[in-house]
Amino acid sequence: MTFDGETQNGPSLIDPFGRQINYLRVSVTDRCDFRCFYCMAEDMHFLPKKDILSLEELDRLCSAFVHQGVRRLRLTGGEPLVRKGILTLISSLSRHIETGALEELTLTTNGSQLKRMADDLANLGVKRINVSLDSLKEDRFNAITRWGKFSLVMDGIEAALAAGIKLKLNMVALNGVNDDEFDDMIRYCHERDMDLTIIETMPLGEIDHDRLDLYLPLDQVKRQLSQSWTLSPSRHKTGGPATYMSVAETGGRIGFITPLTHNFCESCNRVRVTCTGTLYMCLGQEDAVDLRAPLRASESDDLLLQEICGAIARKPLGHDFIIDREHNRPSIGRHMSVTGG
Ligand code: SAM
Ligand code: SF4
Repeated sequence: MTFDGETQNGPSLIDPFGRQINYLRVSVTDRCDFRCFYCMAEDMHFLPKKDILSLEELDRLCSAFVHQGVRRLRLTGGEPLVRKGILTLISSLSRHIETGALEELTLTTNGSQLKRMADDLANLGVKRINVSLDSLKEDRFNAITRWGKFSLVMDGIEAALAAGIKLKLNMVALNGVNDDEFDDMIRYCHERDMDLTIIETMPLGEIDHDRLDLYLPLDQVKRQLSQSWTLSPSRHKTGGPATYMSVAETGGRIGFITPLTHNFCESCNRVRVTCTGTLYMCLGQEDAVDLRAPLRASESDDLLLQEICGAIARKPLGHDFIIDREHNRPSIGRHMSVTGG
């Protein structure tokens, strides 16, 4: 069922399962200055520039969703902050914050550009950022990201905190790689008043490693953590898929994103658009709708809105991620950097 009529709060997008879609994640580029080994192959082929939406097209697309009741917008990638002109896009989109149409404009970033951009982002109304950091050990960080610069990311985190931006750190749990660092990461984050979210690896895209060897179920991580920390369930919600636990010793929180061990689809409120304007109604399904053609076909948004509403009417109930020896191939062929995390 699609409802694009006016509600008390303006138009809204409701999917066939009655879920209100009010959260859009937009991958503004498939390119990245890192090559995290669980995310990308080292030798990645990126999309030709002509296929990528311009900044103006991205603005129009995001604004169409905002018009349809999207209240939260997350820019991601690839690495969103390496997209040329990204601050211009953010500056333009921030008008929806000023009008109150958008509750939040936020980013997921690897932190490499934060040192030079944190003040600008704060001035443009970005209040919360997720930074991905899988290790606090420089050698290990280098091995995981392949091309990353540890000190730049650490400085970037400090710069964003100094600019008054609330940070959450995302750490992908990687069996045999960073599974001895959860305690250090909790201390590092909570000392700086940052939440930490631990994520299960998802079977997205071909990489140079065996995903099953890397996979670490978060139930196991929680058991490990409860030996050192007093954890209790927290009702905290950010509009994303994480469930939170409070840590008595630090007063901070840990989020757990468990697409494999605990499917969280029943409360899904989001859809994703790639930098070529392809709308994926679910991160874990192949079904998609092209929004670039209607965007480029006319200056009016009528066609675009029609496609968006039609797509929401096809949003599936959930993903079918599975990871075991029998299914030791990506469930989904595209990389996380295409659809955005
Ligand atoms: N480059 C930015 C960054 O790293 O934050 C934004 C894009 S990245 C694809 C978004 C998030 O997805 C990151 O936190 C990253 O660790 C996570 N990620 C990438 N591939 C993943 C996978 N296969 N399973 C789980 N998380 C993954
Ligand atoms: Fe780049 Fe983010 Fe993927 Fe790492 S996780 S390769 S930083 S897109």
